[in-house]
Amino acid sequence: MTSDTIKHNPYRAARYAISAHRLDQLPQDAGYEVAFAGRSNAGKSSAINALTDQKSLARTSKTPGRTQQIVIFDIDEERRIADLPGYGFAKVPEKLKRHWRHVMQQYFNRRHSLRGVVLVMDIRHPMRPFDEQMLAWCSACGVPCHVLLTKADKLKRGPAQSTLLQLRRRLPEIASAQVFSARTRNGLETLIERLNEWYDLTTKG
Ligand code: GDP
Repeated sequence: MTSDTIKHNPYRAARYAISAHRLDQLPQDAGYEVAFAGRSNAGKSSAINALTDQKSLARTSKTPGRTQQIVIFDIDEERRIADLPGYGFAKVPEKLKRHWRHVMQQYFNRRHSLRGVVLVMDIRHPMRPFDEQMLAWCSACGVPCHVLLTKADKLKRGPAQSTLLQLRRRLPEIASAQVFSARTRNGLETLIERLNEWYDLTTKG
């Protein structure tokens, strides 16, 4: 927690910008965008709040309408976080899934400023169909993906590490993975370092 990386965490500057219902409402497709994705309840909002060191930047409570929005947080004039809609696949009507697939496919295909995707998975329930779909799109579009196995505080170190190793074997080449906990901030430094690479930010000493 006292490392230079965390002391100089540039993501603390993140501010809410807009919520886009359609892709044409997104900010201009320039600069650097990193998307956060995850099934509902995976821990995505908590991960964004931990990263940005803000208690409630990303909302941790669910409202059904939000599942279809892409929420943008600006870090600086050139850099953004895109909080992608996510839900538990099983509970969602087929029509909504189709709509979501269509929007996400277009987002992945067309968003030139997309530098990487942070895919948040609950370490106790990794690689659900939602996650497989996200990884498939990342592979197809050549977008790097970094998997956050979050809520690691819910497991002992041994089982957490073994889940990480098992998952790494299943990941496509464009993906990396780490354990994380929004509660204890375990793994925050690794996440910041990965994001700094994607956003082309050098860590200041
Ligand atoms: P989202 O739907 O993916 O945005 O998930 P949330 O961030 O809202 O988290 C879902 C639930 O998991 C909430 O009750 C959080 O408090 C809890 N949670 C999220 N991250 C962690 C974590 O790292 N550790 C623990 N123990 N609970 C977490």
